[in-house]
Amino acid sequence: MSERACVREVGLRDGLQSIAEILPTEQKLAWLDAEYAAGVREIEVTSFVPPKLLPQLADAEAVVRHALSLPGLTVSTLIPNLKGAERGLALGVHEMNFVLSVSEGHNRSNVRRSTAESIEDFRRVVALCRTAPEGPRPRVACGLATAFGCTIEGAVDEERVRRIAVDVAEAGAGAIILADTVGYGQPAAVERVFRRVMADVAPLPVAGHFHDTRGLGLANVLAALNAGARSFDASLGGLGGCPYAPGATGNIVTEDLAFMLEAMGFETGIDLDRLIAVRELVHQALPDVVQHGAIAKAGLPKNFRLSRLAEAAE
Ligand code: ZN
Repeated sequence: MSERACVREVGLRDGLQSIAEILPTEQKLAWLDAEYAAGVREIEVTSFVPPKLLPQLADAEAVVRHALSLPGLTVSTLIPNLKGAERGLALGVHEMNFVLSVSEGHNRSNVRRSTAESIEDFRRVVALCRTAPEGPRPRVACGLATAFGCTIEGAVDEERVRRIAVDVAEAGAGAIILADTVGYGQPAAVERVFRRVMADVAPLPVAGHFHDTRGLGLANVLAALNAGARSFDASLGGLGGCPYAPGATGNIVTEDLAFMLEAMGFETGIDLDRLIAVRELVHQALPDVVQHGAIAKAGLPKNFRLSRLAEAAE
């Protein structure tokens, strides 16, 4: 039996938050439905930021409500603070991701507090979620942004990443996401940091969030896979490029990630043809937004599906 690997779609959050043109709610829901129909079972559907700060995600409640109606879908949301956690809890989302930056400078510029203060905020989020009854209690993950480098501070100390990972694990994180927010990571460092952090916080799951800004996104996925990680964030068409660097790629491309995992023999549950077809739907809704990705351009290798079926039958 082949091993499972999880592809977590974050395009509706990480992708859309950097796009100024507001995608109407019904088109977000159509995108969500199409990825769900393609077999994607974990989607970060929005972020609970104040609508004034990010008008693109002002329809968070409506998107979450719809996502929760899809059976078997793990509905995940980003929460920037306690207020966001309250909104997520009220709606009954399955997973909330609190994000703090390993880099002090990045954290201060993002949320105007020190990383240590953000860890305290995370503690309060966990405490709040523990007031919910156990059954519907959401899993609270903690994303460590700039874990592999920072545009403000440059290199990030690996020992600091480990310390913060242990701190948030002790604070009650249900999972940790190591994020290469600005695409500075390289495979040797990624494998090393994943191995160490995973050993430090075991058995807590550690997921990867990579950006392809410098072309190393999938290489970094492979490095994290080698270290034992089995869950990865990605964005349809690689949406989520930096708004200040036109044409720069953002998140790794969901279709390419799913292809790589499937080709390596991991089971993702995703129908690649149907997933690739979702690009057209998003393209019609956002015609000016450049989509990235190799597999959609090149097509699947000849007999790709047949060889996968033969392997499954072995
Ligand atoms: Zn990101």
